[in-house]
Amino acid sequence: MGHLSTSERVDAAKVICNNGQVTQVIFSDKNGKLKLDNSVDGKIDMDVNNNDVKAGSLTACISENGKVGKTELNDPPVSTFIGPKILGVQFLAPLKWDKIIMISLLHFTFLYGGLQYSFRKRILGTLWSLFMGGCAGFGVTAGAHRLWSHRSYKAKLPLRVILMLCFCAAGQNTLYEWVRDHRVHHKFSETDADPHNSKRGFFFAHVGWLMMHKHPEVLRRGRQLDMSDILSDPVVQFHQKYFIPLKLLFCFVLPVIVPVYFFNDSWYWAMMTEMVLRYTFSLNFTWSVNSAAHMWGTRPYDKRIKPSESIAVSIVAMGEGWHNYHHVFPWDYKAAELGNYSLNITTLWIDLFAKMGWAYDLKQPSKDLVRRTIAKYGDGTHPEFGHHSSEVPMPDQATEDR
Ligand SMILES: [Zn+2]
Ligand SMILES: [Zn+2]
Repeated sequence: MGHLSTSERVDAAKVICNNGQVTQVIFSDKNGKLKLDNSVDGKIDMDVNNNDVKAGSLTACISENGKVGKTELNDPPVSTFIGPKILGVQFLAPLKWDKIIMISLLHFTFLYGGLQYSFRKRILGTLWSLFMGGCAGFGVTAGAHRLWSHRSYKAKLPLRVILMLCFCAAGQNTLYEWVRDHRVHHKFSETDADPHNSKRGFFFAHVGWLMMHKHPEVLRRGRQLDMSDILSDPVVQFHQKYFIPLKLLFCFVLPVIVPVYFFNDSWYWAMMTEMVLRYTFSLNFTWSVNSAAHMWGTRPYDKRIKPSESIAVSIVAMGEGWHNYHHVFPWDYKAAELGNYSLNITTLWIDLFAKMGWAYDLKQPSKDLVRRTIAKYGDGTHPEFGHHSSEVPMPDQATEDR
C-alpha cells in the first residue's frame, strides 16, 4: 500500500477530521476492507463534509463499510474540551446527550421490567437468557479482552468466529474500539489517557465515560497505539464491516425470536428479557471491572496501583475480577492467579477449547515470578505468601531455588 493521494482517501474512506496531530489514518478500500495508512505526512488539505481540514490537523479515522465511525469524529478539539454547567455542576467534558438518553431509558425500563418479572412463569425463557448472557460474556472476556486486547493465547479461525459472534451478542462497541480503549486503559491506567479513569469517580469509571466526550489525551494516546494485529485479523475486519447488522442480529433479533418460537414466550417478555434485562445486566457486569475492580478489594500483587482483587466482580464478570493480578500480568490467559473455575468460567472454556486444539499458546508467568512480585510489591494480603513476605526470597535468591 503506497501513500494515498488526498482524493483517493476521500473517495475511499470519506475521512472526516477534527483537530489533533495525525499519526495514522484508517480507511476502507473499495471492498470495505480496513487498512492502515501510517504515511500521513501532515500536508493533506481537503474539504470533507464541509469541514475544512487544515494541514497537519487530520485525525485517525475508522471507516465502517465506507462510512466513518461517529464516535471518533465527534470528539472536540482540545481547545473546547470543557463540559456544560448544569444545575451548578460543571462537567469536565462535553456530554453525549444521545448516549445519556439511551442508557438512562434502558435502565429505567430495566427497573420497570425487573419489578414485573416472574421466574416461575418463564423458566425456559430465563434459562435461555442466562445462556445468551453467558455467550455474550464469553465473547467479551475470552474474545475482546484476553484474545484480541492482550493476545494472551492464540485461537484458530473457528474459535475466533465463535468469539466474534458471542461478542456481537454483548451489544458493545466494535472490536476495534474495544481493543483500542482497553489497551490505552492498561498503558495509562488512572491518568487522563485512561478512557475510564477511576480517579474521576465510580460513576465515570462505570458508565459516565460512555456519556461524554473522551479526554484529548485518550485520543492522542489511542492514536499512537499499534493496532496492526487487530486490523490484520479477517474476523475483526468482518465484524467491523458488518458491525451494525451483526449487533442487531446477535444481541437483539435472534435472542428474542428463539424464546418466542421455541418456548412459546410472548413477544413482550422475550423483548423485555433479552433486549432490556439481559442486556443491562451484561453491560453492568462488564462495566464493574472498570469501576468496582479499580476501587475496592485487596492488592496482593502490586499495592502501588488501583486495580484490585474482587471476588464479586469475578463472579458476575466470569473471572475478570482478579484485577490487581491482571494489571500486573495482563498477558496471562487466565487473567488470575487464584480462584478455581467457578470464579473464572472464562478460563474453564478457554481450557476446554485448548483441549480441542482450537486455543493454543496459552501464556502464563512462572510461579516464581508471581511469588517474587508478591514479595516485592504486594500489600501482604496474598493468602499463601502475603503474611510471610519477609521470608519470601528476593528475586535473585528465588531463581536459585528452582
Ligand atoms: Zn483495569
Ligand atoms: Zn485487560
